[in-house]
Parts: sequence; C-alpha cells; structure tokens
Amino acid sequence: RPLQSLSYSTRVQHREIIAAKNPSINAFVNVSQPPRDIPQDLPLSGLTVAVKDNIATSFLPTTCSSTMLKDFVSPFDATVVKILQRNGADIIGKTNCDEFGMGSLNIHSVHGPVKNPFNASKEGTTKDERAAGGSSGGSAAAVAAGMCDAALGTDTGGSVRLPASYCGVIGFKPSYGLVSRWGVVSYADSLDTVGLFANDIPTIQRVFDQIAVYDGLDPTSAPVEIREKAYSHSMERLTSQKTETSILEGLKIGIPQEYFPSEMASSIVEPIRKIIQALKSRGAEIVPVSLPSTSYALSSYYVLASAEASSNLARYDGIQYGKYVEPGPGVDLSKTAQVYAQTRTANFGQEVKKRILLGTYALSADAFGNYFLQAQRIRQLVKDDFNAVFSIPNYFTDMPGSVKDGVDVLIHPSAIRTAPRLAESEDEKSSLDSYVQDVLTVPASLAGLAALSVPVVETTNKEGAQALPIGVSVVGQWGTDDLVLSVGRAVA
Ligand code: GLN
Repeated sequence: RPLQSLSYSTRVQHREIIAAKNPSINAFVNVSQPPRDIPQDLPLSGLTVAVKDNIATSFLPTTCSSTMLKDFVSPFDATVVKILQRNGADIIGKTNCDEFGMGSLNIHSVHGPVKNPFNASKEGTTKDERAAGGSSGGSAAAVAAGMCDAALGTDTGGSVRLPASYCGVIGFKPSYGLVSRWGVVSYADSLDTVGLFANDIPTIQRVFDQIAVYDGLDPTSAPVEIREKAYSHSMERLTSQKTETSILEGLKIGIPQEYFPSEMASSIVEPIRKIIQALKSRGAEIVPVSLPSTSYALSSYYVLASAEASSNLARYDGIQYGKYVEPGPGVDLSKTAQVYAQTRTANFGQEVKKRILLGTYALSADAFGNYFLQAQRIRQLVKDDFNAVFSIPNYFTDMPGSVKDGVDVLIHPSAIRTAPRLAESEDEKSSLDSYVQDVLTVPASLAGLAALSVPVVETTNKEGAQALPIGVSVVGQWGTDDLVLSVGRAVA
C-alpha cells in the first residue's frame, strides 16, 4: 500500500467493513465516529488505527475486557493515543483482548472470544473456527480482516507476536522503554510494551517512527542518548551502499537451537527451514547459536508477571478504582477487606484471580526466595544469553562490550503451533497448554529486546487445503528496532 493519506471515504469504508464483519469476528468492542477535519499533510494523516482496550482513551471506554472496568472512561488519553491523533491518525475504535492482557488465546474477555478471521463463520461457533491468539487478539484480527490500517496492542510476554502469528499479520514488539507506557493499564510493568500490527512493514515503520519518542511521564522511557547510541550502532550494518534488497548481504543471522522444542508442530519446522535457506541464498550468513537458559524462561516469566500483576491489580478495590459492588447482608462494613473482597470476587475473571493468587504467593515471605528471587536470577541469565550472542551491546541495561563475531539478529519460529480451534481452546481455559504457547516469545520480553513476527507465505498445506498462518520472528538487541524492521522487510 502506498504511503499516501487516506481519504475520508476510506475511513468510512473501514467502518463499513467493521459493521459487516465484526458481529462474527468480535475484534472491536467500541467504534468511534469518523473525524471529518483531519489535516492531510501530517505524517499519519487519515491512517485508521485501532487501539487495544487496555490503552486509555478519553473519547471511548477503556474496559481491559474486565467487568471491573466495564463502564470506565479515562479522563485522559495515553501518550501513544495523543501522538497518533496529533499526527493525523484516525483512532477507529477499541479492540477486544484478554482481561488485563492475561492470556494467549483471547478467550478470557467479558466481551466474549475473538474469532480468527481466517475461518470465522457467522453462525455461532463452528468446530473449525480458530482462536485469534492473545492477549491482543482483537487488534490482530482487526488488521487481518481489513477493518483498519494498523492497530496498537500490548506485549508483555508475547501478546502482539502470538496473535500476529495466528492471524497471519505483522506484529512488532519494540524494545522495552522506546514507546511510552503512560496511560497503558499496567499488567507487569517491567515487561509491558506497546506494540503494533499491520499488513506491511512500511505501515509499521510509519507509525513506530512517530510513537517511539522519549516521554517524561513514563519513568521507564529510555533516555534519548541511549536510543541514539543503539540506533547508530545497529545502522552501521545498513551502510549506504546496501540497497533494501541487499541488506542481507553479509548480515549475520543466528538460529537459536533451543527454539525448536519437542512441543513444536511438524508443520511449523519445514516452512521456517525454507525461509532460512532463502535468506542464505540471498547473501546472509546463517550461524547456529545457543541460548541455554531458554527452557527456564517460561517459568520465570509466569512468576514475575504474576507477582507484578498481583501488586498492580491491588488498586481495583471498588473504592479507589473499579466498579463498586454493594456488600451483601452479613458483610461487616467496618472491615474494609470484606468490602474489597465483594468487589474483587464479583468483578475479576478466573484467569486474573489465578494470577493474583500465584503472584501474591510468590511474593510472600515463605516463597519469596524460592520463587520471586529465583525467577529474577533466571531473567538475568536469559539476558546474559542474548548478550553473549549479539554483536551489539545492550545499551539500556548492561552496557557490556560488543561480542566479536556476534550475530546481528536472531530468527526463529514465532509459535510452536498454528491457531488452535476455538472449541478446543474453551476446554483449555484452565490448562497449562495456553501458557506453553508463549515459550518462544517470553525470552525476548524478559530481556526487553526488539521482536517482530512476520507471516510465512505458505498458501497450501500438504493436503492442498489453504494452510493456517505461521509466523517467523526476527529478534534484535535492545534498541536495534530499525535493523529488525529492515530485516523483516527482506523476510516478508
Ligand atoms: N500470554 C502471556 C500472559 O498471559 C502474555 C500476555 C501478554 O503479553 N500480555 O501473561
């Protein structure tokens, strides 16, 4: 798609597509009125952008797909939303997600599950319908179904990359701290990032260039000097003689051996192998690498994310935040814990409650050393693994010297499988299976790295039927986001 301003009629058109398709896909939970007076000469003029419903907007509700915030309208806009609007984007609506971002299938939502546009049907849930992936499933499905040009999601442990992979669109998780989290409802602050979906990389780049700016309102926003250091170091790889198609010439791509676990479906491996072969024949140097702590990353992630969530979600007590539930008979109003408990019991869903309990336990005096502290140690080992293979140092946290002969980027499958059937996912609600789906995305989250999922073009499967989408991930050192996007262009 050419990067020109979209006309008013295109914006109306996207709303018509939403009206036609949303009843079956359930990607949007609220749609805005088309703005009439967008200046045509701004960087994002007329681009329709959907926003995940855990990012605050003053003009539409922000529910986080939770009963707790069902009627909540934020008094302010998130920094990302302000930037988009200031630059001419049309915020077309808010998208469905897992409650507070917790989930991998977008089935834990007060608005109901999102259906993968790949196989959505109008007549209730059929047995072949697929999950869109989560937690930003609404944003991924909205882009896949042509309801908008781009969408914002959040990615704490894979919530942009996993649904992108399942829905066959591009999903980008920028390096931690590059995009402001001000106005993004916290799940696990040390991991939360704002990510992007689109059908092509130029659109991702166009939006990313605007939103990746320092914001004094977010205490974890990366300082300008550090951004520039990482940027210029990584861009040395893309010297001026290299044309866009020859960016692969001499590029060192690492293939982490631990990213092909036994749980991986066989249908994933072959297409990824083909892509790696193609990159090699186009001039890239393919290097097998090892990230030995990978197998511990998932457990570490779920302990840390739940611990942070239990603390963050304490604010929803019905008094300060959240929908207050009138205490029933027998509740002693002088005991605030009993009053809070009414609200929290009624308004949080099962998955959120489970995370709060798990996280509170991990932070308790008895369990702290064995769980929280151990998980933090593993997180450091995961970071060390990455720092030992990348040619560029991590300018954000560690600042070690460069690794001689290190790789420029890593490439691996985005997920261990294609989108599961929605009917099966409903049964999996309480099982560990949905956690395992994040096994390939959480390491980059723990280390705060840039990670992009690009759909693999594989139109038919062995039986000749239309194949389900598969994603391949390009992961780069902290702050090398533009390099990752450039490599993504060559892969896409
Ligand atoms: N599925 C993971 C979780 O439930 C990741 C979620 C996310 O990235 N927001 O925690």
